[in-house]
Amino acid sequence: MKRSLYWVTNDLRLNDNIALNLASQSEQLLCVYVVDKKWFEPKNYQSKPLGDKRWHFLQGCLSDFNQSLLALDQQLYIVYGDTLSSLTALCEKYDITDVTTTRLPGTYENNLIDELGQRMPDVDIHQVDQFTLFPHHILPFELEQLPISYSKFRKVMADISIAAVTPSIESLPRMFANMPSPTIFRPPWLPNAPYQRAKCGYNFEGGETAGLKQLSRYFSLALPADYKQVRNNLDGWDNSSKLSAWLNYGCISARQVNHSITVFEEQHTQNSSTECLYLELLWREYFQWLHFKVGAKTYQFKGLAEHPPLTSFYPERFNKWCLGQTPYPLVNACMNELITTGYISNRARQIVASCLVNELSVDWRYGAAWFEEQLIDYDAGVNWGNWQYIAGVGVDPRGGRHFNIEKQTALYDPDGVYQAKWLTRGDHSSKPLDSVDAADWPVQPLND
Ligand SMILES: Cc1cc2nc3c(=O)[nH]c(=O)nc-3n(C[C@H](O)[C@H](O)[C@H](O)COP(=O)(O)OP(=O)(O)OC[C@H]3O[C@@H](n4cnc5c(N)ncnc54)[C@H](O)[C@@H]3O)c2cc1C
Repeated sequence: MKRSLYWVTNDLRLNDNIALNLASQSEQLLCVYVVDKKWFEPKNYQSKPLGDKRWHFLQGCLSDFNQSLLALDQQLYIVYGDTLSSLTALCEKYDITDVTTTRLPGTYENNLIDELGQRMPDVDIHQVDQFTLFPHHILPFELEQLPISYSKFRKVMADISIAAVTPSIESLPRMFANMPSPTIFRPPWLPNAPYQRAKCGYNFEGGETAGLKQLSRYFSLALPADYKQVRNNLDGWDNSSKLSAWLNYGCISARQVNHSITVFEEQHTQNSSTECLYLELLWREYFQWLHFKVGAKTYQFKGLAEHPPLTSFYPERFNKWCLGQTPYPLVNACMNELITTGYISNRARQIVASCLVNELSVDWRYGAAWFEEQLIDYDAGVNWGNWQYIAGVGVDPRGGRHFNIEKQTALYDPDGVYQAKWLTRGDHSSKPLDSVDAADWPVQPLND
């Protein structure tokens, strides 16, 4: 008799979920999500892997997915602890024969699966490629040969078709008889500061229901038709799809977004904006496979480059950047929006990342780790890949990006509307960047 454990990760949905379909081909099914305790502990570069805004979003995703499973007489079993020990203990307790999960590109996730396989040699482990647009086996090259520039990747992938979206799951196998009582299935409300909804800016609601609603809204309002013209604006819900957080927790799939683009092009218009939207989705794809290929290099100071960058760690500068207290008002406004809402536009991300690396000369990895803690749409491959790109140690053949803050301000906030909205924590533009000089003497008198 097949007794399956479906290890739910970044695939919190019923629609287009091949892994859950596969796990359903069994007599009994246990759906498990592990909230790993390490996510809440600061690691390298001072930041935590999971900050309170994304944790709030994730709780919404878990709760929504649990509701969907309840409607099919199933349940999401949420465990808090160490991922590997929790999965091993559950496999043993319920005499599991098969573990099914979505394949994620991270080294950590892949090592975990390997270790689980070693601990449970009699359990069949199935990994399903559905976090990306294309499954691994369809890539027209060995992963080792992944083009080292996005434009080459784009050309190689141009003729490869994307699989159709699979229908929503309508029935699931029964649960195990001796499961703990439903009360302990509720998400563990961990001790952290109570979550505060942002009074100003966006509030994202986690879950497949909210994700599908945003997908449908964005396309039904015909917003993709003008995407290219407005995507660089700093503010405005409708200037880009805002789908990233739902995509990264798998509340919606990349294939579903691609399907919406295709239908939109057939029924409304196909223009450079709809193409541009697809190409952004393909950037996400590229960073996933790159992460898969280069593994730990994603997190190394010199990244994919021959030499490390000429930056260092300056705690005071880094803290000022995090808290929106640099001498650059536009950067401060963006950082304030990030801390408050967990989201900033792509252009804002580029400006603040460039500032940290080029103006403040700080090691890019501290910035990437701060984004990891703060962003509700954090994705390892995309975040660290974009940071490497800006720091000049990634896949950019032109070697880094330096955004001129004055020019960016004139282009994207000429009337200061965005800054007026987000410069809520005082004016720091006239204060010096460093409080001490190279010999540790105060730059300003202490009583200044
Ligand atoms: C320094 C830096 C860090 C970033 N960190 C992340 C991150 O952790 N998670 C994340 O999802 N995106 C990240 N991005 C990429 C991008 O900023 C966001 O994907 C985008 O702003 C999300 O808003 P949206 O869904 O409205 O995007 P849209 O403009 O509507 O784009 C549609 C989709 O395409 C993908 N996409 C868009 N821009 C990029 C890009 N530059 N690189 C790769 N994929 C892209 C996303 O999945 C996005 O949802 C980062 C960019 C920079 C410069």
